[in-house]
Order: sequence, then C-alpha cells, then structure tokens
Amino acid sequence: MKSFEKLLQENKNWAAEKQASEPGFFKQLAKEQKPEFLWIGCSDSRVPAEIIVNADPGEMFIHRNIANQMVMTDFNCLSVLQFAVAVLQVKHVIVCGHYNCGGVKAALSKQRYDLTITNKWLMHIKQVYRLHQDEINALPTEAQRIDRLVELNVIEQVQALSHTSIIQQAWSQQQKPMLHGWVYGLGDGLLKPLVTLESGCDIGPIFQYENAANV
Ligand SMILES: [Zn+2]
Repeated sequence: MKSFEKLLQENKNWAAEKQASEPGFFKQLAKEQKPEFLWIGCSDSRVPAEIIVNADPGEMFIHRNIANQMVMTDFNCLSVLQFAVAVLQVKHVIVCGHYNCGGVKAALSKQRYDLTITNKWLMHIKQVYRLHQDEINALPTEAQRIDRLVELNVIEQVQALSHTSIIQQAWSQQQKPMLHGWVYGLGDGLLKPLVTLESGCDIGPIFQYENAANV
C-alpha cells in the first residue's frame, strides 16, 4: 500500500470507529460549527493542534502557517480571524508556537538564497529578533536563543492580534475574545502559557482605533 493510500484507509477506519462509538456524531456536526477557539499555530507536522489538546472535530477553528505568525498584510490569516471573531464569535484566540521551531531557527540564520518566498515570510521574525536582540544575544547557546525567540515571537503575535480592528471592535462590542500565547514543547508534549490579553487591557496609543465600536 502506498503512503497516501494508507491515509485514505485510516480515514475509513476512523470514521467507522467514531460512528460506532458516537452514533449520530457526523450527522449532528454536519449541521453547523460552533467552535469556542481559534487556534493560530505553526505548520510543523509535530504540532497537530487537535491532537495535543485532545479536541474533537468542531471544537477549534484553525489557521496554521510557518512559525505561527499574524502578519497584518496576510489576508489569509486576517480573513480566518475575522470570520472566527465576527461570525463564529469564538471566546478565545490562541497563538501557539513551539520550541525548536524550524522557521524561527531559519530566521536566526543567514537566508538560503533559493528560498525566495519563505525568506520574505521569515523576515517578520527577523524583525522580532531585532526588537529583542540584546536579550537574545545574551543567552549562551543557540538552542536557548532559538527557544527565547520562539517565546518572544508568540508574544509579539498576540500583541499584533490586539492591534487589529477586528479584535478591538469585538472587545468594544462583546468583551471577547480573550487572546492567549502558548508554547509547546516537542520534547515533552506539554503546553506552557506565556501571555493573556483581554478586553480592557492596555494597548499602545498608536495602535488604538479612535472608535473601535464603529470600525
Ligand atoms: Zn515551527
């Protein structure tokens, strides 16, 4: 059996087991989704969002990209955020990074000449490094420098979420969602919370919208 055929076979097995253990599960879920969480994570295959938090289909709306970034000009991530917040009205948005992230590691090194598109994407993380380079450079090993940049990158992305009109409008009108920054350990499978922002928190004046309720 070829590797992709195994996926199709495993899917049949999974659907049959789910239907047997929870009759009507798919029928009910097919009607609508009401996820409580938006998850913005890294595309890394070792950080499968639903599996590491033991979530079922329907529980999390998910966006993943290299190094879990919330880039202001990325309509992909922004449209996911807008739909999750304005339509699904999720209660929590979680940015989840992970230690030893290949994207962060690459951003801390010289650019590979041939990865033209990926380099542009990683440029945003180089900017996070530039903001915090004194703290990062003071760490003794490369692994520690990468892991600290992983954490700082998560915190920066949560800040970036709070700078969007989407979040500021939702906070003004619904007092939600709560924003979370977490980091996942590839070596132990555990999540560590780093930061939480919620309606009413301090946002730098230059990032505030004048009247978020009418944005
Ligand atoms: Zn990663």
